[in-house]
Amino acid sequence: MTAHAKPADSPRLRSQGGRAKKPGSPHPLAKAYDLLFAAHGPQHWWPADSPFEVCVGAILTQNTSWTNVERAISRLKSAGRLSVSGIYSLSPTALAELIRPAGYFNVKARRLSEFVRVLREDFGGSVSRLLAGRTHDVRNRLLAIHGIGPETADSMLLYAGGHASFVVDAYTRRIFGRHGWCAPQASYEELKSLCEASLKNRPPQELPAYWGDYHAQLVRIGKLRCRQAEPLCADCPLRPLLPKARRPQAGHAVRRPRGQVARATLPAMTGPPTADFIRADALLR
Ligand code: SF4
Repeated sequence: MTAHAKPADSPRLRSQGGRAKKPGSPHPLAKAYDLLFAAHGPQHWWPADSPFEVCVGAILTQNTSWTNVERAISRLKSAGRLSVSGIYSLSPTALAELIRPAGYFNVKARRLSEFVRVLREDFGGSVSRLLAGRTHDVRNRLLAIHGIGPETADSMLLYAGGHASFVVDAYTRRIFGRHGWCAPQASYEELKSLCEASLKNRPPQELPAYWGDYHAQLVRIGKLRCRQAEPLCADCPLRPLLPKARRPQAGHAVRRPRGQVARATLPAMTGPPTADFIRADALLR
């Protein structure tokens, strides 16, 4: 658990409709998970065969879709290079060529090389040694490696290390913003802190699995329903949790000329999105 300002103390989280929950009632974020889980079932994340593969995927998925990451990982596997020694002994050019489908392949090759170098030289090539210790300390250890930012570090912590460290991404921001659970300009650390403080309705040992599936559920609903340009609220499991003013009314749904799915649009978001938000959102369209 990282040390951050408490969500309830943050005016940026409170001012955009972060309503106080009634005493004894589940937190809206906990209700959201129950609705998503009931609709989708468990998501079984992270799709990987080993903790090392999780770490490689977490670096490769920066600014690209998971489909592209799968193609890059498949090429590494086919070349017999999806291992610490396999990547360590590759030249940057050869590694970049193998991971080309993941996009930004020169940058990602440098990041992957540096991650593997630290892993090998400082932790004997062992992911479990790299990720051993208090969550806060391990997170700082990861963030000190070139090319590993908060989302990548939290993905490694949660899915490779079994730490209770919530992962925030552009889908989280979009969904939470539309439901009034955070302000568009809330920072990564504020959103992470909000989730970690609000989603403790499980025993501590169950939090990594809970938060891991929670993030996966948000990604699924972000891809399927909560799209940037045209959220499909009418048949979304989270529709009951929309603020009343933003909830599509009966009869408000429209049918697209060639589509079969009933759709409903949302009133415009309030407040200007930040540059980060726009950049991240653009990647998800
Ligand atoms: S599609 Fe609509 S109801 Fe579903 S998560 Fe997005 S804003 Fe909420």
